[in-house]
Amino acid sequence: MTEGQKVYEGKAKILYTTEDPEVLLSYFKDDATAFNAQKKGQILDKGRFNCTIATHLFQVLEADGVPTHWLDTPGDREMRVRAVTIIPLEVVVRNFAAGSLCQQTGLPLGTPLDPPLVEFYYKKDELGDPLLTRDRIRALALASDEQIAAITQVAQAVNVSLTAFFQRCQITLVDFKLEFGLDSQQRLLLADEISPDTCRLWDQSQTDPQARILDKDRFRQDLGQVADAYAEVLQRILGQVSPI
Ligand code: UDP
Repeated sequence: MTEGQKVYEGKAKILYTTEDPEVLLSYFKDDATAFNAQKKGQILDKGRFNCTIATHLFQVLEADGVPTHWLDTPGDREMRVRAVTIIPLEVVVRNFAAGSLCQQTGLPLGTPLDPPLVEFYYKKDELGDPLLTRDRIRALALASDEQIAAITQVAQAVNVSLTAFFQRCQITLVDFKLEFGLDSQQRLLLADEISPDTCRLWDQSQTDPQARILDKDRFRQDLGQVADAYAEVLQRILGQVSPI
């Protein structure tokens, strides 16, 4: 049911206008990128998996009091969302060391992080999404101190909610990336998507460090069975929630 004008095309989604200026339609593609789009490919049915997974996770978060941009999901690749101005920050929460944290600090993979880390990266592909400091966020005027405090609090609340939810799915939430936006009334809303593209998810029934991976690391590391992993995450989520 895609309709309206294309307002934005990102690596994994396309945003279209709707008849309501406050509402956009987010279309989930099968396209996959990694390493700042140096690696490109497609994951069969990823758009459907991620749209459905993100829908359920947004509903879990809304039920736990986290305001999100999600409105409803009229098609299996399409979500209606509140129009927001995206704050150009990638907010990463880490419960266990993985990915760039291990590469940049030498921390062994899987080291528990207590309290969890909340990190800010500059959402700017041309610069390779560099890690920011509070002073750099101020210098670049990317967000006010009050907004950073609010974003940190919401990111921690998202972590508590999703860690508990994934635990019920026998999945460990290793780390994830969030994006936030401001709606027409300047309300801070969780935006973008939450899916195996944006989270590291480890199957608790597997001990092998590759076999346990249920997220985009299977694509990044050419481990195969990428779509199967996304389908497995969706199946486990469906086992814990009522139908959309
Ligand atoms: N992430 C993301 N988009 C990005 C960068 C990271 O969704 O542009 C997610 C990634 O999937 C992981 C978490 O954020 O769940 C932390 O990623 P990290 O900084 O370790 O970077 P990576 O190893 O993915 O380069």
